[in-house]
Amino acid sequence: MRPIATLAALAFVALLAPARAADLVQVSTLGALMTGVFDGETTLGELGRRGDLGLGTTNGLDGELLAVDGQFYRIHADGHAVLLPPDTRTPFAMITAFTPEITAPLPAGLDLAGLEAWLDRLLPPANHPQAVRIDGRFERLSVRSVPRQTAPYPPLLTALRQQVVMAHESVRGTVIGFRLPTYLRGINAPGFHFHFIDETRAFGGHVLGLTTGEGQAMIAGLDGVSMILPHDAAFGAAVLGDGIEVGANAVEGLSPPRR
Ligand SMILES: [Zn+2]
Repeated sequence: MRPIATLAALAFVALLAPARAADLVQVSTLGALMTGVFDGETTLGELGRRGDLGLGTTNGLDGELLAVDGQFYRIHADGHAVLLPPDTRTPFAMITAFTPEITAPLPAGLDLAGLEAWLDRLLPPANHPQAVRIDGRFERLSVRSVPRQTAPYPPLLTALRQQVVMAHESVRGTVIGFRLPTYLRGINAPGFHFHFIDETRAFGGHVLGLTTGEGQAMIAGLDGVSMILPHDAAFGAAVLGDGIEVGANAVEGLSPPRR
């Protein structure tokens, strides 16, 4: 076949192929975070080139990390949010280039389990990770954050004994989250994981509980999983096993999947 004809054929195929959804990009593994690998060399600037919606933590387990509209925020242990510069480093994060597949009005009066069940009906959980963004008002919200740890680092379970839980009523803001299929349990916790930031981007945290008010939910299935593994000695030396026996859901306070 002549080269020009081949190129033309390839271009035609590309036009016919369905648009491919974004990947979930994950830094390190939850198992590594569980064992106390709290420092990494991946910067938020690098993550920002891979996506605009995400969550995680920053080096030293310094608070809860949230990315929304390409802006990265740390929620400090006292709940207040700060915009982070791109040279900030993370030991564990998830991010995606978010393009909503489904947008729907958020029903009022759902608790966290009810919200998760509703999201499951909105985009039935198949075998793809899903990314979620909810903008709206929350009648009640319980969030937590953690204080920065000092090396040598304790296991995550020990560090989380210092978590600070904060309760809010009738707050407007954005919930960012992911739903991960069970087969990813070797690298992360299956089920939903949500972080919250208020609409003025002043406070938030890792969501432990909520009651929905009115708002809008957006959800997207993701077509791939890409991992960034730390090069550093702590990750290399961590005993991670198969990553499954870490009991991650229980420790992180995350909901297990219902399938
Ligand atoms: Zn979290």
